[in-house]
Amino acid sequence: MKNTPCPKLKQNIYCDVLIIGGGLAGISTAFELRNSKQKVMLIERNKIGFGVSSRTTGKLTYLQGLVYQELEKTFNSKVADLYLRSQKEAIQKVVENVKNYAIDCDLEKNHSITFTYDKSEIPYFQKEEAILKRNHIPYQIKNTNGLEQVAYAIEVDDTYVFHPVKYILALKKILLKVGFSLYENTKALTLAKQDEGYLVQTEEGSIKAKKVIICTHYPYFTIPGFLPLRSHIERSYLVAGKVDQNQKVNAITSSKKTVSFRYHQPKEDYLLYVSHSHKLGNDLDYKRNYNLSIEDAKPYLKEIDYVWQNHDIMTEDHLPLIGRLQKNNPNLFIATGFNTWGMTNGVLSGKILSDLVEGKENPYEQLFLPYRGFAWNAIKNFTVDTAHSTKTYALSHLKNYYSFYLDEVEIKKIEGKKCGIYIDEDGKHHIVKALCPHLKCGLTFNTFAKTWDCPCHGSRFTMDGDCIEGPSLYSIKF
Ligand SMILES: Cc1cc2nc3c(=O)[nH]c(=O)nc-3n(C[C@H](O)[C@H](O)[C@H](O)COP(=O)(O)OP(=O)(O)OC[C@H]3O[C@@H](n4cnc5c(N)ncnc54)[C@H](O)[C@@H]3O)c2cc1C
Repeated sequence: MKNTPCPKLKQNIYCDVLIIGGGLAGISTAFELRNSKQKVMLIERNKIGFGVSSRTTGKLTYLQGLVYQELEKTFNSKVADLYLRSQKEAIQKVVENVKNYAIDCDLEKNHSITFTYDKSEIPYFQKEEAILKRNHIPYQIKNTNGLEQVAYAIEVDDTYVFHPVKYILALKKILLKVGFSLYENTKALTLAKQDEGYLVQTEEGSIKAKKVIICTHYPYFTIPGFLPLRSHIERSYLVAGKVDQNQKVNAITSSKKTVSFRYHQPKEDYLLYVSHSHKLGNDLDYKRNYNLSIEDAKPYLKEIDYVWQNHDIMTEDHLPLIGRLQKNNPNLFIATGFNTWGMTNGVLSGKILSDLVEGKENPYEQLFLPYRGFAWNAIKNFTVDTAHSTKTYALSHLKNYYSFYLDEVEIKKIEGKKCGIYIDEDGKHHIVKALCPHLKCGLTFNTFAKTWDCPCHGSRFTMDGDCIEGPSLYSIKF
């Protein structure tokens, strides 16, 4: 699909509603507001559609591990049922958009399976089944013959897979056609309250907006500590390659050691396979993580064609954060914490946020309220994660943390600044500042991808210091 570039903002401008971030959440919100009487615009720091949303497994499913019994345990049955309804509605919305606008995004009906290798988890599956039954969702207890060593599995058949980038770019094209203001290469640098609204500063212009919606994946313009208190970041390694046949199925394990896969058929049959995930900051031997993922995937693929990494924000209570950021701040909105289910929740964010900025009611406003109280059952996760963030930050400043670098990386002070030096195969030294501009975490070198990665919040930089992924807004060039 032709991707028409959008201009960079180079002037001071006024709008009623500003959306920051052009991933699935941001573009879906823009799409829902395309006929609004308010003046709405969207800015994206890079190119629309090429953030976290471009590196997923692209499942559009409501069977998300064993999330419903988890929500019932953390909250109650009403919350579990409402979340289920919201996910089904989001899937329906994509299906309708694809049909109504003839969007070519490889949307394909696909069975979803949750499975386990561990017999002791069967009671949790039975709880999940009870919730599906209560909500009149047809499911099957899967014959596990096709899945090696599987102890138990449930399957539903009214779910989909798609190509998120093609979908996002199609929405972008429709938005451009109706004259919606989209800006690319336009990075929001600061957000400050001004009069009744906000002033957002970009590199070459500023935007005065009555309402601001932050869809930047990591919502870093918000209250410091807001997200670390409610979430942690999880990194996964993905491997893809050709297979003999598309089995028209996607699956995920219920257990802590996640295995997730889906078949995909752009022109040839592919399998996307994930077998390795960890909390950001926990396991920094990137080369080992990539290699383990490749070894796990090998038996299922004809050959390895692609490997990459991605990360998502996981909330402690398993519910995304979508809506008004604070009670006393009615014009600032966020959408984040999708728990690796941002295809449905990104689309859903579009509907919820557009309703809120248009002053309409939305049935899910309370469910996803970002300033909701802490659920009692999630307190344990909260304590563990706060300790984890503190430990990661502290360790990122210790030299022995870098022991797995062998000879290719040095960390040392140059002109009083902590620097990282990557020595490439030709012996060339690539020197960068080794602290993340976001919150000054010590950076670690990703020996597989050859990037500097922040172990605390996921910012990434090239070996020469250009920022390729936020939350950092700045480079680490020396
Ligand atoms: C391994 C893995 C597999 C996954 N698979 C699935 C799946 O199969 N199904 C599913 O439902 N979900 C899946 N997810 C989750 C899903 O990918 C994410 O939740 C979702 O893509 C997040 O969308 P987003 O719009 O919030 O973020 P993004 O797509 O990252 O969009 C945010 C945008 O904001 C821009 N931005 C950032 N800062 C600024 C700034 N200062 N100014 C302007 N723009 C800015 C970024 O450049 C980016 O384009 C998966 C996640 C992972 C990690």
